[in-house]
Amino acid sequence: MAITENSVNTDITNNNDVLTCETSMVNGKTWEQWEREFPIIGEIRALRETGWVNPDKIPCKKALSECELTMDDVRDASDRLERFAPYLAKVFPETAATGGILESPLREIPQMKAELEQKEGTRIPGKLWIKLDSQLPISGSIKARGGIYEVLKTAEDIAIRHGLLRIEDDYRAFDSEKFRKVLSQYSIAVGSTGNLGLSIGIMSAQLGFRVMVHMSADARQWKKDMLRSKGVTVKEYESDYSIAVREGRKIAEQDPYCHFVDDENSQTLFLGYSVAALRLKKQFQEAGIVVDQKHPLFAYLPCGVGGGPGGVAFGLKQVFGDAVHCFFAEPTHSCCMMLGMATNQNQDVSVQDFGVDNLTAADGLAVGRASGFVGRLMRPFMSGCYSLTDERLFRMLATLADCEDIWLEPSALAGMYGPVMLTKFPAFREYIKKEGLEGVITEGTQLVWATGGSMVPEEEMKQYYQTGKRFFY
Ligand SMILES: *Cc1c(COP(=O)(O)O)cnc(C)c1O
Repeated sequence: MAITENSVNTDITNNNDVLTCETSMVNGKTWEQWEREFPIIGEIRALRETGWVNPDKIPCKKALSECELTMDDVRDASDRLERFAPYLAKVFPETAATGGILESPLREIPQMKAELEQKEGTRIPGKLWIKLDSQLPISGSIKARGGIYEVLKTAEDIAIRHGLLRIEDDYRAFDSEKFRKVLSQYSIAVGSTGNLGLSIGIMSAQLGFRVMVHMSADARQWKKDMLRSKGVTVKEYESDYSIAVREGRKIAEQDPYCHFVDDENSQTLFLGYSVAALRLKKQFQEAGIVVDQKHPLFAYLPCGVGGGPGGVAFGLKQVFGDAVHCFFAEPTHSCCMMLGMATNQNQDVSVQDFGVDNLTAADGLAVGRASGFVGRLMRPFMSGCYSLTDERLFRMLATLADCEDIWLEPSALAGMYGPVMLTKFPAFREYIKKEGLEGVITEGTQLVWATGGSMVPEEEMKQYYQTGKRFFY
């Protein structure tokens, strides 16, 4: 599909529609009642860029001690990925250079920092770095962490159950007829806006699983085409992500040989994402970046349903404790995590409940109802959430391409506005004061998590870029 004016949300024109919508009830309360209790709902309904500071964040040590998941779980996931590394290096030659460890580069982006400061009329404290999950091998997005991990874990469980494998063995054995024959009796299913389907589909097909991907209306055509070319069954929905997931789950439940990757509830996915933090710690050390109380780290994570950014943030809190401050970033039309967390209703509210359409060009973030599992688990850890318009995503997409030659998909730019929000949004400035960070923030690191882009076809990327230029500063 070509990017037209219409596929980019122009918030200014949409404002009135939403505000004049008829009032309806949400969980027993009118919109007016909700808005009185949570003024941010007014901002969300008006599609204004806004932010929320989490009043329930507590000291990290205490939060970790009360958490159902631990560092042992993160390490277990990391160990599993290491066991599979020789297999991955064998079947995906592009991963051979890193020995089958799927990891992305970390880069400082000083020109982008200067550009943002000038265009936004602000000073970004400390250094600006970007984590290029856009370049993760196999599927070119953050989903290459969690999605691939869950498929691998499922394959390992089955192989062990069938007496084919012990964890001490050489996992290259998965690349054999014997293993593929057993795995082909099983299937993997997933609901997705595109990128998760891509990761799960490619990995599952490689292992010999049968695989069905339930794609929401947001999924780009090239992602469906690529999957079908690999023998993956792609079922398309005209509805949004939540429906695609629900339908996929329903079909999978009827089949005992089907494993459903549940993006809304899966601890396995979540832990796969969390391993990123262990790797980042090493990369920081190699780059000479210190993270401690005197050198705070701010991480801005594009958020859809929440598993990816939640898992990464969880890992970051495990590794860096109170020195890291994590924010979820979402489009104004799909800010489901901010809505769920700010109201503490988590998965019991959707943006559509409040008349917001969940239409965004950031297909990876086009989710109207957040994961309740992630919202609850991350409640004591997160610093906050913020939203930004699609125009801004596109504008920053073009700016980043121009000044750093980094090419991302729209979703992946959501984190880029974090450093600006931090300095401009009153509640975030208040947060810096309250946390006692005023004196040290200039010694710290601003980290933008760039979640996808390298697989986008050139023609499509060109259109993204041109759209960005149209909305230019
Ligand atoms: C999926 C995705 C996200 C968000 O991950 P969730 O687990 O859905 O919150 C962010 N960016 C891109 C590019 C994605 O594909």
